[in-house]
Amino acid sequence: MSTEFDVLVVGAGIHGAGVAESLTAAGYRVAVLEQQAVAAGTSSRSSKLIHGGLRYLESGQFSLVYECLKERKWLLAHKPDLVHMVPFLIPVYRHSKRPPWKVRLGLTLYALLAGLFNPYSRFRSLDIRDWEELEGLNSDDLLAVYRYFDAQTDDAALTREVIRTAQRGGAELICPGSLVGAEVTDKFVRADYFHQGQLNTLHCKALVNCTGPWIEDTNSKCSPGAKLPALELVAGTHIQVPLKIANKIFYVEAEDGRAVFVMPWQGETLVGTTERPYHGDPGEVAPTLEEKAYLLRTLKQHFPETRPLQLHELSDSWAGLRVLPHATASPFSRSRETMICSNNDKCPRVVAVAGGKLTSYRATARQVLKKLRPVLDSTNNGSLHSESPTHPDRETSAEGRHL
Ligand SMILES: Cc1cc2nc3c(=O)[nH]c(=O)nc-3n(C[C@H](O)[C@H](O)[C@H](O)COP(=O)(O)OP(=O)(O)OC[C@H]3O[C@@H](n4cnc5c(N)ncnc54)[C@H](O)[C@@H]3O)c2cc1C
Repeated sequence: MSTEFDVLVVGAGIHGAGVAESLTAAGYRVAVLEQQAVAAGTSSRSSKLIHGGLRYLESGQFSLVYECLKERKWLLAHKPDLVHMVPFLIPVYRHSKRPPWKVRLGLTLYALLAGLFNPYSRFRSLDIRDWEELEGLNSDDLLAVYRYFDAQTDDAALTREVIRTAQRGGAELICPGSLVGAEVTDKFVRADYFHQGQLNTLHCKALVNCTGPWIEDTNSKCSPGAKLPALELVAGTHIQVPLKIANKIFYVEAEDGRAVFVMPWQGETLVGTTERPYHGDPGEVAPTLEEKAYLLRTLKQHFPETRPLQLHELSDSWAGLRVLPHATASPFSRSRETMICSNNDKCPRVVAVAGGKLTSYRATARQVLKKLRPVLDSTNNGSLHSESPTHPDRETSAEGRHL
């Protein structure tokens, strides 16, 4: 295996995969280092939605929603085996935190941001006669039910597909391989990592830290590290229940007003998610009993006729970690924008990707590529390679060729 690359990407979640795909498409030599397995972290523990995020409109994150809806359109067109549209239903009750006019306003804005002529922008309020067909949804005090469309995926399968594209483009995946330390010198970055019980070294022009909830730990191994803002980890749990409720996604309100999804998944039903601050080792995050009980209660409140389930009857449950900017606001209303930080704005050799969405991985990868171009294309780097990459796409736009 070569020990000289243009870029070392650390972490093979959706961001590491997307960055590697984008860099290889632009003609750079890339190695990806993953300590456990592709999509072993948050990228297999998400709500599996490719969406703009209707609820982010409430906190005014319009550009995020717009960008994600654009990415949703691209993914639907280019990855139809992995991303498909699903009807979403929002029931509004007399006691709901969001009254019908507010939901209608949100859906109107969502449709406008997705594009008026987009066939998936259409939404409507279901006729009261159709409520009986709502697969056992609680109809006590029900005021309205809105139907719109968004997309669902298999997050881990999508991540594996993106990493395979990067590998076909020439990226080397070192897995399992764990970063031990990285040192920036005048001309390159020297990175030490463990692989197959041995300490190895490689050299690259830049390192991209895509280690999700491990971002601070990985950054502390880089000298100098990227200038990160204060960050917080917020855990989110999903439960999988052995019940088949519907082939639609219900967007319901839990007892505390939080939005919870009830989704079809692998012939059963997925319910999530929760949000709680997390301070431990990211590798140890797991659902708590309270979270599981809260999600089961939310399910029962909205689908009272479903068979009562005990906690030990769950088919599965897991927790993932969001990386959010530290703030006093509730995690629910905090910015979900991707934060791209570096050790040096003019000559970034260590870049770190914090937060972000599965949906917008391509947009994030484009930003990383744009940030790295000056360093990667600079003639002052010396030659790291005996044979310099002469990929025909080297002069293409920052978007890369087939992204
Ligand atoms: C509960 C929850 C629900 C979500 N739902 C959605 C959703 O429906 N739609 C959406 O668009 N987004 C969603 N998101 C956001 C999305 O899932 C994440 O933004 C995304 O998966 C993060 O990917 P990542 O590549 O940054 O991190 P990760 O997927 O966590 O990948 C990081 C990788 O780095 C590796 N690593 C760590 N340290 C090292 C090291 N020293 N050396 C080598 N490798 C290392 C880890 O093993 C891991 O594989 C959700 C997030 C959460 C938490």
